[in-house]
Parts: sequence; structure tokens; C-alpha cells
Amino acid sequence: NARVVFSEIPQGVPDPQRSVKYDESELIDLDNVPLNGGFLAKAVALSIDPYMRNRMREAHIVQRFSPFLLGKPLVNYGVGRVIRSEHPGIKPGDYFHRKDLSFQEYSVIPDLSDVYVLTNEQKLPWTLYCGVAGMAGQTAWMGWHEYAAPKPGDVCFVTAAGGPVGSFVIQLAKAAGCKVVASAGSADKLQFARECGADVVFNYKTASTADVLQQEGPVNIYWDNVGGTSLDAALAHSANSARFIECGMISTINGESPHVKNLGMIVGNDLKVFGFIVGTLLPRYEDAFYGEVPRLVAEGKIRYREDVKKGLQYVGQAIYEVQTGGNKGKSVISLE
Ligand code: NDP
Repeated sequence: NARVVFSEIPQGVPDPQRSVKYDESELIDLDNVPLNGGFLAKAVALSIDPYMRNRMREAHIVQRFSPFLLGKPLVNYGVGRVIRSEHPGIKPGDYFHRKDLSFQEYSVIPDLSDVYVLTNEQKLPWTLYCGVAGMAGQTAWMGWHEYAAPKPGDVCFVTAAGGPVGSFVIQLAKAAGCKVVASAGSADKLQFARECGADVVFNYKTASTADVLQQEGPVNIYWDNVGGTSLDAALAHSANSARFIECGMISTINGESPHVKNLGMIVGNDLKVFGFIVGTLLPRYEDAFYGEVPRLVAEGKIRYREDVKKGLQYVGQAIYEVQTGGNKGKSVISLE
């Protein structure tokens, strides 16, 4: 039973060779492993997400997500296929999405908590249920519907715009009639942001975000995927009553200081600041999301890019790339 275990708590960016280890030593008897009322599943696709870095830490540091345990398989959002089942709610051959799917080929899952059985009428590739039709897509779609309150002509600034969350947000903002200003860290990602409809694109590594927003702003909606200096510039160039959707802070996830000096604008500009975790929106939006987004994807109405690596051996590399910008689209490990 091939698996990937957490092997070292990283300092800064996780080292692909040291932080996780690929291992084939565990044996599993697929016909006889006890299910105890649960079901046996084969992992089909596993999502690699920025927040996984937050789980690579010491157990006593309390955060929302439980830490990965040293010597145990990583867990994250993924798609699995049922091999055997003793649970009345799921049967062999069913595919499902689960929040904490184990990074191993086969696992026994005790019950249906955090499991969503996928009907996949559109016959999408299963990896998409880790991306545009999975947690990343849910984040963009649910967060936008809940917090953005867009008006035609609003200026919407989106960071990490070449990734699965940012590129989906660009499309939602354009559909709502916004002018979209998008930043990312490579020409390739900026090109994709343009294809998604962004009106203005720039590389935050070579251009000053503050200068661009001075020119193109003020910002009515800031979809923040990165925090740090981008957030600071957006605060400085915010419109009155702007909505700040605080989705992610990847610029500080590996330990850098946030450098945010303009927090006073929250009061002065009457800003509405919404921090959120997709899991809290899920119960209200999940059925609507699966009812709409896979269909739109199948109809070619939502653009997306995937960065698929085949095999658990590539998990460490994929985690590293997502932290450092090397991924070209939604990072997914495919096992089929
Ligand atoms: P991506 O696949 O876009 O990967 C993250 C990207 O962030 C990298 O590719 C890199 O792209 C960029 N990045 C890395 N370091 C920096 C930096 N210092 N400054 C600016 N950009 C940086 O990720 P996702 O689309 O999956 O996620 C985007 C954000 O949304 C993340 O912050 C993530 O944590 C957050 N998120 C939040 C959720 C929630 O529930 N609130 C759920 C899912 C995601 P580049 O080449 O452009 O630098």
C-alpha cells in the first residue's frame, strides 16, 4: 500500500526531499481488511493546497486544522473510489470527495462524515473534483457569492491570479461586470489571467502593486490570496466601503513578516473585511455548487488549468511548487 508520510517539520519552505517520504512497506489484504461498518477506498486524485503548509507544524501550535502527524500519512481533500463497503450509504464503484483523504493508495474510511458522493453526470476527469469542481473552486464560488456584493463597474483586484482560486474569481468578477486587476508571479500565469478576462495584469515581483492600484483603482473588491505587501497596497488604495475578502495569506505562510502598515484604512474607509474558511460556507452552498459548477465546466463556460503529477512519489515536489509558485494551475496528484 504505497503512501506518503510526514517526515520532518519544515523551517520556512518545505524541502521536497525531507518534509515527506514516499514508502511502499505497508501491506494490505484488500479482500480481508476489516471494515467495521465503514468502507475500503482507493485514492484516485489528491489535492495539493497552499494551506497544507499550516498542517506541517508541531502539534501544540493550535490552529483550525489538525497538524500532520510525524510518521503518518498526510491527509487532504481528494477523490476516492469505493472497493468494498459495509456502509449502507455508499457502495462499491461509487466515487466520492472527502476532506481528509489519506495519502495512501488504499484506506478504510469509518463513516460518511466529510464525504460527498459524486454523481459526475458530465463525466469530467476525476482530477477536476480536486480543482475547479473541488475545494479550490468551492472557495472562489462560495466566497464570491457570500461576500463580494459586486456592482457593475466595480474595480476588483485579485492576487495569485494564475491559480485555481484566483482565476475562477476573475471569471466571476467579469460575469458581474467588474473591471478586474490581477497580479501573479510569472508571464505564463498573467497570460492565463488575461484569458480568464482580467482587464489589467501585472507581475507583483517586478511592478509596484501600489503604483498599479494608484493608476487603476480605487479598489472596490479585493480578493486577497496573499496578504503582505499586496494587502497593504490594496488597503492604501481602497474605495469607501470596499469589500476585502481575506481568502489566503500565502506570502506569510512560510514565516515572513506581514509588513501591513495601512490597517487604519479599515476604519477610515469604512471597509468590510471578511475572513473566511470555505468549510464554514460548505453546508449552505455545497449542493448548489455541485449542481452548477461541474455542468458549467463541462459546457466550457469556466476556464481552468491543472498541474497534474501522476503518482504519490511527486507529493513533496508538488507541495514545494505550490509554496514557491512553480505550479501551473491546480496542483493535483493523480493515482489512476
Ligand atoms: P495556487 O495554486 O495559486 O498557489 C499559490 C500561489 O501563490 C503560488 O503558485 C504563487 O503564485 C503564489 N505565491 C506564493 N508566494 C507568494 C508571495 N510571497 N506573494 C504573492 N504570491 C505568492 O493556490 P490556490 O489558488 O489553491 O490558493 C490561493 C489562496 O487561497 C492561497 O492563499 C490559499 O491558502 C487560499 N485558500 C483559502 C481557502 C479558504 O478556505 N479560505 C481555501 C483554498 C485556498 P505566483 O507565481 O503568482 O507567485
